Amino acid sequence: MTPAIIVHGGAGAWDLAGERIKQGVAACRDAAALAQTMLLQGCTAIEAIEKAVNLLEDCPILDAGRGSYLNSEGNVEMDALIMDGATLEMGAVAAVQRVRYPISLARRVMTDTEHTFLVADGASAFADRIGFPRCELEDLLVGDELARYLDLKKEGSYQTATIFTEAGAMGDTVGAVAIDQWGNIAAATSTGGTRKKLPGRVGDSPLVGSGAYADNWTAGVSATGYGEKLMKILISKRVCDFVAAGLSAAAACQAAIRVLEERVNGQGGLIAIDARGQVGWHYNTDAMPYGYAIGDGIVVGGR
Ligand code: ASP
Repeated sequence: MTPAIIVHGGAGAWDLAGERIKQGVAACRDAAALAQTMLLQGCTAIEAIEKAVNLLEDCPILDAGRGSYLNSEGNVEMDALIMDGATLEMGAVAAVQRVRYPISLARRVMTDTEHTFLVADGASAFADRIGFPRCELEDLLVGDELARYLDLKKEGSYQTATIFTEAGAMGDTVGAVAIDQWGNIAAATSTGGTRKKLPGRVGDSPLVGSGAYADNWTAGVSATGYGEKLMKILISKRVCDFVAAGLSAAAACQAAIRVLEERVNGQGGLIAIDARGQVGWHYNTDAMPYGYAIGDGIVVGGR
C-alpha cells in the first residue's frame, strides 16, 4: 500500500488576505512533510499522526496545545482523540489542563490504561501518575489570545459559534489522518475548543465518531468546526459509512458536509483517507488550512 497523510489546521472564518492563514498552511505543510518522512521510513500510521499533531499543537497560531483559546474564566481546557483503525483501539482526554501535547496524553490513555476516555482532574491525575510532562497556563497562552480574551470578556452576548462564521474570527483545531504501508489507517484530532466556552464544555473533538474515526475497513477521518453541531450527526463516522456505501474519501467528505448543512445548519470541515489510500477533504467555512502527501510525492498545502 502507498502510504499517505493529510492534516488540517481548523475550519473557520479565516481572513484569507491575512498572515495567519499563510502560517496555518505552512504549519500543515510541515506537519504533512514530517509524517510523510516517518511513513516512508516504515513508521506506522498512528506514530506518524501523533507526531504530525504534536507539531501542530506547538504552532502558536493554531487552537490546540500552545495557542489554545481561553474559556470564559481565562483558563485553557483541551480535548483530544486518537484512534487506530487496525484494532479500533482509541484514547481520548477532555477538559484537560496544563499539558503541551494533549494528543500524546490521549495515546497514553489508549496504551497505558484499560479505559478509553479520561476527563478533567482525572486526566490530569493520570498524566501526573505516568510522569507525563505538565506545563503552566502561561506556556499555552501565547500570541494575541490573552488580549482577545480580555476584549471578549466584556461582551456579554458573545456566542462561541461566532468563530466559524464571523469574518476574521477563525476556528483552528488541528487533526491528522494517515494510512501506512500495511494499509493501517489512524486518525487524530486535538483542540483548545471554542473561545469563551463555559468551563467543562466539551466539543465534538474527543468524541469517537464525531471528532475523529478510523477503521481499516472503511476510512480515517478528522473533523473540525462548530462542535455543538458536528457531534449531533456523528460526522466522522458518517464519512466512514459513506465510504462503506461506495463513495471515495473526497465524495464522502462532501456528502457529510451536506448533511451537516441540511440537517443541523452547521459549519465545519473534514479530512479523510479511505482504505484504498485515496485522500479527500471538504469544508463549508471560509477556509480550512490543510496539507497532504501521497507516497513520496510532493507535499501539497492549501486552504
Ligand atoms: N470542533 C472544535 C470544538 O467545537 C472546534 C474547532 O474545530 O475549531 O471544540
